[in-house]
Amino acid sequence: MRIGFIGLGNMGGPMSLNLLAAGHTLTVYDVRKEAAAEQVAQGARLASTIAEVAGNSDTVITMLPTPRHVEQVLLGDGGLLAAMAEGSTWIDMSTSVPAVADRVRAQAEPLGIRVLDAPVSGMAKGARSGMLQIFVGGDGEDVARQRPALEAMGDPERILHVGPHGAGYAVKLMINLLWFCHLVATSEVLAVGTKAGVDLEVLHRSLVASPATSNFLQSDVLSVLHHGDYDESFAMSLACKDLGLAVDLAREVGVPVELSALVEQVYRRGRAAYGDLAGEMIPMKLYEDVAGLELRLPTSQSAAREVHP
Ligand code: NAD
Repeated sequence: MRIGFIGLGNMGGPMSLNLLAAGHTLTVYDVRKEAAAEQVAQGARLASTIAEVAGNSDTVITMLPTPRHVEQVLLGDGGLLAAMAEGSTWIDMSTSVPAVADRVRAQAEPLGIRVLDAPVSGMAKGARSGMLQIFVGGDGEDVARQRPALEAMGDPERILHVGPHGAGYAVKLMINLLWFCHLVATSEVLAVGTKAGVDLEVLHRSLVASPATSNFLQSDVLSVLHHGDYDESFAMSLACKDLGLAVDLAREVGVPVELSALVEQVYRRGRAAYGDLAGEMIPMKLYEDVAGLELRLPTSQSAAREVHP
C-alpha cells in the first residue's frame, strides 16, 4: 500500500518502521526533520510539507501528541484534508477525542475521503515489536481494507473493531483511565503497607495471590519495583492529557467520575513535581517521597529501604 505517516515520535517512529519492514511504500513527515532519519535510511520518502504526504499516499496515518495537534495537521493552513484525494483514507492513531475527528469527517465525507480512529495500547515496546493492541472505530469495510497496514503495526489477534466512528478513541481513553487508577491505588497500598512494617516482597506476593490482584500488580508495577524505571517512553505531559480527555468525556456524557477526577489531580501533582518529560509511572514516586521509602524488590539493590531518617 502507499502509506503516509505524520508524527514520528516515541510511537510513530517505530510504527512507521514496521510499515516499511512489511513492504509498504512510505512517505513520512514530522516537524522535527531529524525524526525521519531512520525511515529515510530504510527507503521512506521524506515529505517537506503535509500536502506532499497526501499527494503520495492512499492512506495517511497520524500519530500526534494531542487533539489540538491533530486538528491543526488536518484542518489548519496547508492541512492534510485539503490535499487528500477522493477515495483515500485518514487513520488517526493518536490518543484523541471523537469531537475533533467529527469535525474532520464532516468535511471529509462529501469529498469521498474515508476516516478511521485507531488508537493503540502497548507502549513504545509494543510499537517496536509490531505487537500493539489497536482499537478501531469506523465502518467495517474501511477497517477490512486497512487491515494490512494495521497488521504491520499491531498484533493481528488484538486489532479490534470496537464500533462506529469515535469508539476507538473512547475505548483507548477508558483503558488509560483505568490503568492510571490502578497505578495510584497500587502506589497508596504499597506505601502504606511497607510503612506499616510489612516486607515489600511479602506484601506484593500477598496482594498478587489475593482477590485484589490485578495485571498492574502482577506485571506493570515491576518496572518500578525491580529497576526504578518509571517509563519515560510515555511522558507525563501526555499522561495528564489523556486523563484530562477522559474526565472531559465523562463530563460530556453526563457521568460523575469522582475517582477519575482525583486520579487526574494526583497525576497533575506528579507532573508539577517531576516535570513534563518524567515517565507515566512517576506518580508512584509521590508516595515513595511522602512515606520516605523507595519501593524496590530485593532483585534490585534494596527493598523498600528508608531513604530519609
Ligand atoms: P511524541 O511526543 O514522542 O511524538 C509526537 C511526534 O509528533 C513528535 O515527533 C513531534 O515532533 C510530532 N509533531 C508534533 N506536531 C506536529 C505537526 N504539527 N506536524 C507533524 N509532526 C508533529 O508522542 P508519542 O509518545 O509518540 O505519542 C503519540 C500519541 O500516541 C499520543 O497521542 C499519545 O497519547 C499516544 N500514545 C503514546 C504511547 C506511549 O507509550 N508513548 C502509548 C499509546 C499511545
